[in-house]
Amino acid sequence: MLKLHTKLHALTPALASNLRPGSANSASPLLRAALSSLRGLTRRSSRSSDLVGHRAFFCSDSDSSGDVVVHVEAKAVDSEAEEVETKSSSAIVSTNPRPEDYLTDPKLLAALQESRKRQAPYAGAFLVKDEPGTDPSLVSGSESEKNIYDLKGKDLLNRLHEVGTLAQISSIQGDQVVLIGHRRLQITEMDKPYNKDDDVIKATSFEVISTLRDVLKTSSLWRDHVQTYTQHIGDFNFPRLADFGAAISGANKLQCQQVLEELDVYKRLKLTLELVKKEMEISKIQESIAKAIEEKISGEQRRYLLNEQLKAIKKELGLETDDKTALSAKFRERLEPNKDKIPPHVLQVIEEELTKLQLLEASSSEFNVTRNYLDWLTALPWGNYSDENFDVLRAQQILDEDHYGLADVKERILEFIAVGKLRGTSQGKIICLSGPPGVGKTSIGRSIARALNRKFFRFSVGGLSDVAEIKGHRRTYIGAMPGKMVQCLKNVGTANPLVLIDEVDKLGRGHAGDPASAMLELLDPEQNANFLDHYLDVPIDLSKVLFVCTANVVEMIPNPLLDRMEVITIAGYITDEKMHIARDYLEKTTREACGIKPEEVEVTDAALLALIENYCREAGVRNLQKHIEKIYRKIALQLVRQGASNEPAIAEVQVVEPEEALVECADDLSIKAVESETGAEPVEDSSHEQTTDTSIEADTVPTDLPADQPSDSKDATDTKKIQESEATKTIEKVVVDSPNIADFVGKPVFHAERIYDRTPIGVVMGLAWTAMGGSTLYIETSQVEQGEGKGALQLTGQLGDVMKESAQIAHIVARAILLEKEPDNPYFANSKVHLHVPAGATPKDGPSAGCTMITSLLSLATKKLVKKDLAMTGEVTLTGKILPIGGVKEKTIAARRSDVKTIIFPSANKRDFDELAENVKEGLDVHFVDEYNQIFDVAFGDDQNTGK
Ligand code: ADP
Repeated sequence: MLKLHTKLHALTPALASNLRPGSANSASPLLRAALSSLRGLTRRSSRSSDLVGHRAFFCSDSDSSGDVVVHVEAKAVDSEAEEVETKSSSAIVSTNPRPEDYLTDPKLLAALQESRKRQAPYAGAFLVKDEPGTDPSLVSGSESEKNIYDLKGKDLLNRLHEVGTLAQISSIQGDQVVLIGHRRLQITEMDKPYNKDDDVIKATSFEVISTLRDVLKTSSLWRDHVQTYTQHIGDFNFPRLADFGAAISGANKLQCQQVLEELDVYKRLKLTLELVKKEMEISKIQESIAKAIEEKISGEQRRYLLNEQLKAIKKELGLETDDKTALSAKFRERLEPNKDKIPPHVLQVIEEELTKLQLLEASSSEFNVTRNYLDWLTALPWGNYSDENFDVLRAQQILDEDHYGLADVKERILEFIAVGKLRGTSQGKIICLSGPPGVGKTSIGRSIARALNRKFFRFSVGGLSDVAEIKGHRRTYIGAMPGKMVQCLKNVGTANPLVLIDEVDKLGRGHAGDPASAMLELLDPEQNANFLDHYLDVPIDLSKVLFVCTANVVEMIPNPLLDRMEVITIAGYITDEKMHIARDYLEKTTREACGIKPEEVEVTDAALLALIENYCREAGVRNLQKHIEKIYRKIALQLVRQGASNEPAIAEVQVVEPEEALVECADDLSIKAVESETGAEPVEDSSHEQTTDTSIEADTVPTDLPADQPSDSKDATDTKKIQESEATKTIEKVVVDSPNIADFVGKPVFHAERIYDRTPIGVVMGLAWTAMGGSTLYIETSQVEQGEGKGALQLTGQLGDVMKESAQIAHIVARAILLEKEPDNPYFANSKVHLHVPAGATPKDGPSAGCTMITSLLSLATKKLVKKDLAMTGEVTLTGKILPIGGVKEKTIAARRSDVKTIIFPSANKRDFDELAENVKEGLDVHFVDEYNQIFDVAFGDDQNTGK
């Protein structure tokens, strides 16, 4: 529109025309004012330019009667034509006002005024045709004028000249109107006449109005038009209403054009009604869409806000739990890598639990139970195995690396691995390593795991009485946990670890359920492929796990368990073996653990021997290890103390001149420098050397900035070297020898094992076998009273039932033997005798002290000493027959520790003894006996007693 205006202004010079309401006479040009409803056309700027061409001149009379309508067709004038027009400047409105041109019609004047007010001050001006032959300008006569106002439609059209002017209403003063002509207009047609009282037209127009009102109410898009509507709706006549409705409806160009072209007002109204109804529908849909979306957004926003608030509250209360979805995602992520290895039944349970997790309230206790359960289920190494290594040579190497000696044990383990290699699997048998504490059972277990390339896990069942430790709790218990095996699998991350079950012999007696049968379920290859942990509730396959048990006393292992075990006994170590272990294994690892260098310390053989003989006499080496650790800790402190006291000297060495530090042979020089600190002569010489060296360096390396850098760092490293050499030089090597061993480990503890250097009358050394390995013990007898018929025996020394019985039997057998050897000696008939086993704090029991007791009683009765450095073991029958005993190796080792030279064993044990390693048997005088008389001969041989 604006474009059009500017164009027009540019092209057509403004021509003013004064139109005055003329006197009643002549034919003044009738200005049928056509008030543009341009305002209505300004809607939708995007379209306006399109519409303008067609509708800018769509003018209708605003005459209140509304019955006179001028229809004007726009004549788009092309630029050439416009130029022609400009030249001709053909007047549109006459510039010479004449009286007859004066506007006489008050209605017309009002219409023009109104149009001007609306800021769309345009009118189409057409000259009325006069009767043929009359001067158009002189057309007058009230008759013809009157006629003109009453005419409509075709009749009016016929009375008007075809070409008129688009005139701008420039000013209106009184009844004087100034028009500026802009364009030529050509009338082609006019609205058809209609009856404004027609009910149908009225009804249709009301419907248009009410629909428009609704649309304007609902649709925010049309807000702009509401004002126009409310301002003008009252002024609108039917055709204008139709135009307005069509114009603001969202109809497309062609539909608008249709309305534009429709000259029948009723039809036009109907067309418009259709368009606005359609608009109404669209706006309804739009509204519902908007509403739905708004609801969705506000619902989500509300949720979000509430969630945020909840989080904040939980955080405030310290209840914050992991977001459920994040949790599920975490669990699924864990499963992903080995999803196809997980057994289907387990996967199913996991899926079910994951679903359950989503449904549970995060603050509920059940949620926590489910979460923990899922945590366990997903953390287990389902189907994850480490590759087993059956390389026997490598295994041998590893076992030797970790342990000294134990040749028989290692051999048994290698056999086991060899079978595994041939079968392709090492499971099936359960190894049980038995022996006293500290002999390396656990560390052998560890070595086996290393040799087989299995993960290692250890748990002790000593004193275990709660089956839940093995089988897990039911999940319903508060704080429920799975059993040890499930914990183990989670811990090691593979499904085929080596599991060391410590102290199977000390398995407790369960108050609820039997731990032994739970262990059996765990260990039995028949059952453990489907081991059911109460907590886990899904069977797990433990058949690939290699179980190794340890025990101190095999006899204490429940029989059904023992049946399935392959027992490997480790008896303990003799002094010589302990020396090797201490030297080659314990010392080495301890030294490294303390950060001490081999050259900084020396522990002599004599010191080690003293340690073993006087401090660590037990079968195992754990105590020895502890003592060695103690020694090395003390050494470490000594070294550090020395280093600290040497520090000032080092600090001074650090102040070496930079040039000196440049010298190549810094090590030697630093020593010289140190020496120089002590005030020795060579100071001068060495510094001379250094300076000359420096000058040589300076010749080759320019002493500019870049060269400074390396010399600095060299300086630093040299200083370090100096420090080190200083430290090693001044710190004395710490020597641990037998005389000063007490400085490191204190005085040797008193040992009951060797109370007597030479046993007195009535005292004999026996050999016992306990959970702690073999040991020596004394059996002492002494006379309490003497008198006719007073013969009796009383006992002390924490003896168990078996030993008490042994003592009773010994008393009877001794009496019989005495009767045989000294028929006249009534000692046992008339003497009340007391028998005691010292070190009474430790309970003693076992069937191997009979021989020793008899010998002790006979020594008392015959007043004879027994052979020096003699020890014996064996049980006796009432008739004096000797029964075999257990633990030959352990007892032999114990005897050696106690410096025993002669040992008496039952004949039946000869084979056990022969199997012992040479170094254990070496130098021992061993007698194998079948009946007590033989013992008597060895113990009381004449030469022993006469020769003392
Ligand atoms: P156990 O399990 O039998 O009670 P450990 O396995 O704990 O004993 O052994 C105690 C310490 O003694 C460990 O440091 C172990 O390495 C060491 N040890 C035991 N026997 C030997 C051996 N034959 N060679 C080297 N070290 C050994």
